[in-house]
Amino acid sequence: MRHFAVVGSGPAGFYTAEALEKAYGEGARIDILDRYPVPYGLIRFGVAPDHQSLKAVSKRYDKVAESAGVDFIGNVSVGRDVSVGELLELYDAVILATGAPHDRKLGIPGEDLAGVIGSAEFVGWYNGHPEFADLDPPLGGTHAAVVGAGNVALDCARILSKTAHEFEGSDIVGHALQALDKSAIRTITILGRRGPHQVAMTPKELGELGHLEAAVPVVELADFPPVEADEPLDPGLRKSVSILRSFADLQQNKAKTIVFDFFAKPVAIEGDGRAERIIVERTVLDDRGAARGTGETYEVPASLVVTAIGYSTSPIADVPFDGGKFVNDGGRIADRLYAVGWARRGPTGTIGTNRPDGYEVADLIASTMPPGSAGDRQGLDGLKRLLDSRGVMPTDYDDWRKIEETETANARPGSPREKYVRPSDWFAVLGR
Ligand code: NAP
Repeated sequence: MRHFAVVGSGPAGFYTAEALEKAYGEGARIDILDRYPVPYGLIRFGVAPDHQSLKAVSKRYDKVAESAGVDFIGNVSVGRDVSVGELLELYDAVILATGAPHDRKLGIPGEDLAGVIGSAEFVGWYNGHPEFADLDPPLGGTHAAVVGAGNVALDCARILSKTAHEFEGSDIVGHALQALDKSAIRTITILGRRGPHQVAMTPKELGELGHLEAAVPVVELADFPPVEADEPLDPGLRKSVSILRSFADLQQNKAKTIVFDFFAKPVAIEGDGRAERIIVERTVLDDRGAARGTGETYEVPASLVVTAIGYSTSPIADVPFDGGKFVNDGGRIADRLYAVGWARRGPTGTIGTNRPDGYEVADLIASTMPPGSAGDRQGLDGLKRLLDSRGVMPTDYDDWRKIEETETANARPGSPREKYVRPSDWFAVLGR
């Protein structure tokens, strides 16, 4: 019997577990560890609550969790409760699928002012993430800004601009829905340090902005190169640029605006004890396509600033780390130690990108310890003994389901997490 520990229960972890299960069948036991008693990482805490079709992929992960050779072990933090070295003693292979949960920093003056928050925090707030559920972002001012020209920036701007009615059928948590409903924000400026041809926004996500109930996107056609210049772009980017151009034709007849400000690099955030404005420098593209400041600056008012400029992985003791992700060669970090997903590649790609990633690492593992070969590690029994000796109480599949059932018990139909179980109450639900 082989024993595998997959650390992290987001998409990368589940695809890897699925691949290992397929490769080894009854010849392996796979433990998916998570620091929280509920699984799915990015799906639960990162994907926008109004993107239910993306979240539906968790049904596939449910099947993996329910298969005989797989166990979900929650409430275990690797690096704190158990080290990677100890896991390697207990398991034939350890696969780190810990994602990239930390916000990259802008590195400009004023970034630490109240009212400046990273997208991981803001997204975590409206998704009920244990660390950010109590964030209480300032929504009392009329102006907000989102820094970055990627899909996360779009998520943040869209969530800030939607009406309560538009969240019907989403799984936004109740406290965020109530706060957003009372929000005074009327102008949301998206600051892209480069131009429309350099956006990292995809067509479907951009297209949604043109159909909002109470908000309309605004672009300046002067920021765009001539239409002919769109021709050589990759089809996806060309579509995004054409959607952005089409925003110029929309009637400005709604209460809120989402303003695209291109060639706009934040250089400072200012305010009296809290964010009031961003100082932005106009940029041009240099020969390498990077944003170069022109020296011309102006102010963008914002009492809420969300930075959506990418993420980094949490380092774990004794695992080589390059500042953003684990150092690895095609997923292999060291003997019997692997990384998958954003912890392997950095924070890029869709949820589906993690599938081939997980299967590739499972193949790599199978090439060094072929299915059918025997191992003599202790696996979960040994892990439980070790955790018990440290007073750590892991949770299991039944505990996860109990939390979810309690969460949905009182919710309105179509609003499954309206009265969700706040993370601080998880263990009360479990009677611990
Ligand atoms: P991203 O796609 O890498 O975009 C990051 C943005 O931040 C870029 O526009 C980048 O500009 C900008 N940026 C970086 N450093 C900056 C700085 N110092 N100052 C100003 N701007 C800066 O990252 P993301 O939006 O976090 O998304 C992560 C991944 O998740 C992406 O692959 C994304 O497509 C995916 N995602 C998908 C969905 C969906 O499918 N619905 C939703 C959310 C996220 P430069 O290009 O100039 O560096």
